[in-house]
Amino acid sequence: MSGQWAGSTRRYELPPDWPELRALVLARDEQRCRWRENGTVCGRSATDVDHIKPGTNHSLTNLQALCRDHHAIKSSREGNAAPRVTRWRPTERHPGLL
Ligand SMILES: [Zn+2]
Repeated sequence: MSGQWAGSTRRYELPPDWPELRALVLARDEQRCRWRENGTVCGRSATDVDHIKPGTNHSLTNLQALCRDHHAIKSSREGNAAPRVTRWRPTERHPGLL
């Protein structure tokens, strides 16, 4: 209710070298939007870099260039679809006996 950290949970933190990463991704993707829908790639001029899987994985394989429109669409979908962050934790413990 205080709203003290309401804003910080909304956005994932970006690494200090984000400007560099961002430039790398845009260059790699030739500054074209990589949004794919029905087998067609958007291909418009990309201005944004997006995390394919939302979270804190900032590796180049998890980043893609998007145009502003598609980035907005994706962000709003993620906002609606991800009320809670679940951790990737495969259960490896076995009870031992069946
Ligand atoms: Zn696009």
